[in-house]
Amino acid sequence: DDILRLRPTWITIDLQAIQLNAQKIMQHAGAKKIIAVVKADAYGHGAKQVVQALLDIGIQDFAVATIAEGIALREVYPQKNVNIFLLGVQDVSHTNVMIQYRLVPPVGTIEWLQSALAQIEDGQKLAVQLAVDTGMGRMGAHSQENVQAIYDAIQNTDKLDFFGVFTHFATADDNNQSYYDKQVKRFYQWVTAAGIPKKYWNLANSGSAIWHFNEIDTETIRVGSVLYGYNPGAPEKKLPISLKPALYLKSKIGSVHQLQIGESVSYGATYTAAKSQWIATLPIGYADGYLRRMSGMNVLVDGHVEHVIGRVTMDQIVITLNQEYPVGTIVTLVGCDGQEKITIEDMAEYGHTIPHEILTNFGNRLPKIY
Ligand code: PLP
Repeated sequence: DDILRLRPTWITIDLQAIQLNAQKIMQHAGAKKIIAVVKADAYGHGAKQVVQALLDIGIQDFAVATIAEGIALREVYPQKNVNIFLLGVQDVSHTNVMIQYRLVPPVGTIEWLQSALAQIEDGQKLAVQLAVDTGMGRMGAHSQENVQAIYDAIQNTDKLDFFGVFTHFATADDNNQSYYDKQVKRFYQWVTAAGIPKKYWNLANSGSAIWHFNEIDTETIRVGSVLYGYNPGAPEKKLPISLKPALYLKSKIGSVHQLQIGESVSYGATYTAAKSQWIATLPIGYADGYLRRMSGMNVLVDGHVEHVIGRVTMDQIVITLNQEYPVGTIVTLVGCDGQEKITIEDMAEYGHTIPHEILTNFGNRLPKIY
């Protein structure tokens, strides 16, 4: 990080905000336990630091997407009481790696389970979760018979530890609730028929924990975006509780000059000055996750709104200025300056995407300050 700081563009992470958000969402949803989703480097917030902050408030269950993410986390947190779940389909040939690092993969088919069992040596155990596909269509058992068969197979061996059963919602942040209701109904039917006790269920993602906590009766919520303070349903849906965003992005003006009438800026010369105006260059670009489609987006200088002009390039952007400012002036790309504010949700809306995509694109070239 010290070397990264030689370029003046940085992310600030508020770990206390993440702790507060975790406590708030648990209270709101009436949940006893959180599985904190910390994949993609904790949605760009730094998995190692986020996990420590959550351990400090008693959260012990974490979820990542890949085995590599799980290994990286396990190496920092070897403690017995720290559980690391894998969310996506895993290559079953890595069963022994998952045992070695105590990672908990999802089981979605009986074939996967049999193949894993064949690799587990006597005296070893693999912890697993049963994945149920109630309508997301990505992975998991998708009939009552399949859920039953996998659960029975897990119960009938001493090579497996059963850690839970989960499903994932496709429309928890949608205004139309019918698809969501259908998924909940299937989960309840299939899992109840299979005889899986409620304490093992985890089905609520952020949207579900925020907007549907009355419809599902579960002790555990499995959430990502709300922990970091973002509205997963933005811009259509409003949050019923206030969350605190944890990530701020700033840069410093690297050069300033006056553009003359008729002169253009950046690749394609897409922006041409209609009048003489001050402009500045900032050391951040799409290789840092400041997406190319952010051309035209707001930034804040000295408490007022300016704009990105011309194309976003790999490492630099150009912004408007209402007057000359010195090199080194701080520019806010995400955060507050005076009365003005730019949120991740603003960026997502401008970029026709969701907060998750904006966050997970912020690259490794940006140092993080905690
Ligand atoms: N559960 C699963 C299986 C996921 O894939 C994800 C994220 O994509 C989450 C939970 C967390 O979602 P959210 O950030 O909306 O809470």
